[in-house]
Amino acid sequence: MKKYVLVLDQGTTSSRSIIFDYYGNIVSQVNKEFNQIYPKPAWVEHDPEEIFQSQVYTMKEAIRISKIKPEEISCIGITNQRETSVLWNKNNFKPVYNAIVWQCRRSKDICEELIKENFDKVIKEKTGLITDAYFSGTKIKWLLDNISGLKEKAKNNEILFGTIDTWLLYNLTKGKSHYTDVSNASRTMLYNIHTLEWDKEILQMLDIPYSILPEVKPSSFIYGYLDKEFLGLEIPISGIAGDQQSALFGQTCFQEGQAKNTYGTGCFMLMNTGDKIINSNSGLLTSIGWQIDKKINYILEGSVFIGGAVIQWLRDELKILDKASDSEIIANLLESNEGVYIVPAFIGIGTPYWDMSARGLITGLTRGSNRNHIIRAALESIAYQSKDVLDCMNKDSGIKIDSLYVDGGASVNNFLMQFQADILNVNVIRPKVVETTALGVAYLAGLNVGFWNSLEEIKKNHQIERVFSPSNDRVKFENYYKGWLDAVNRTLNVD
Ligand code: ADP
Repeated sequence: MKKYVLVLDQGTTSSRSIIFDYYGNIVSQVNKEFNQIYPKPAWVEHDPEEIFQSQVYTMKEAIRISKIKPEEISCIGITNQRETSVLWNKNNFKPVYNAIVWQCRRSKDICEELIKENFDKVIKEKTGLITDAYFSGTKIKWLLDNISGLKEKAKNNEILFGTIDTWLLYNLTKGKSHYTDVSNASRTMLYNIHTLEWDKEILQMLDIPYSILPEVKPSSFIYGYLDKEFLGLEIPISGIAGDQQSALFGQTCFQEGQAKNTYGTGCFMLMNTGDKIINSNSGLLTSIGWQIDKKINYILEGSVFIGGAVIQWLRDELKILDKASDSEIIANLLESNEGVYIVPAFIGIGTPYWDMSARGLITGLTRGSNRNHIIRAALESIAYQSKDVLDCMNKDSGIKIDSLYVDGGASVNNFLMQFQADILNVNVIRPKVVETTALGVAYLAGLNVGFWNSLEEIKKNHQIERVFSPSNDRVKFENYYKGWLDAVNRTLNVD
């Protein structure tokens, strides 16, 4: 009897494996951190071999702890940190260099060149993305341009490229499968989301050979089989999705207009826009959510740079909080924010203001203000910034969402979730299983092998832990938000 789905969740700071049962419950879960490599300021790398080994370790441990037999695993799904890029030698599986991580800014000069030549317009039109070092395309170009002899080897068919899903898949299948899924491909800045193919004009512009690229497949698809060497038998690998898209699927946001927000260090908000490619005028990204059979679901994505990180800042820099969870109790001590706002524009401010020179501030202080006000203002700032992003999504898509599905480390904060509902005037829905990233790809993998048979069947698994409903006192919360807009204005164009 095949009773379980195994998920490999390869994140930015740790590799994790989770085993789910039919109801989407977690049977076991193992995490392993790996090294972050910072060779220069603003450069970030990972060792691809360490990533792979840590992933295999957690996979074996998760099975050992659960006491299930590998024979009971129906299929495997892979979800991953997106955009991070690896090039390796096709024959001996050896990476030619460390993985260049999504956070790494080393290729920003290449991006500036592209922008100077107005090629960013072409990129936006074809890929839905802004021209930025964040995405894989210019990372690959940097590797090809900077490693001696690599370009020739690549042109001689000796080199392969992959985002982390592809790197893991290639190793897990012992080199039999060189594939990625549409959600990962759509974050490379090389994939045309209209024609659903690697874009020859962009490849030419960046001088990247087509032959190094993986074949792009649906997110629910048999990509290959886990080699016998790992668990003693072959298991189909039947789902792949980038982490944020996987979380949207795990939240069962299958319908156009449904949206989720993940409250981590930053916040990632994604809206399912169905079969529509929506071009944003506010700096949101257009990507592919997932593909099942022939059907593609597109998304709009926006992010808040400093989300839970503002709470870390209170704890580690200002030292006015012992632990993040105390923020909820302290914020609740106040009836209102009493006019105090924090704009945590520590690294500039994004959607929809896009002022990278903006810096943080605290406004509205009076003689009576104390740390409680600052802590409350910090939590409120996460909700206000999320509203800024969601308003853009509503505006750009013409779709008005009526509820927001939430997950991530800071979503456990009940004050924040209630305040979010009040500020947005929509229901905020928190699920029972908060590991939505892993759950999403478990569903994608399971759908392909008949472990689950339909989206409706999966929806039955989605258990809500709590719904936060908005207050009827709309004037009060509109005034709060006006206060935020006023505070944000003071951070803009300061120099
Ligand atoms: P990431 O995946 O980005 O590392 P997590 O999802 O683990 O982030 O969430 C961690 C973030 O959530 C941290 O920035 C932390 O400050 C914040 N956080 C954790 N618990 C709480 C809480 N109870 N209230 C507010 N913020 C919290």
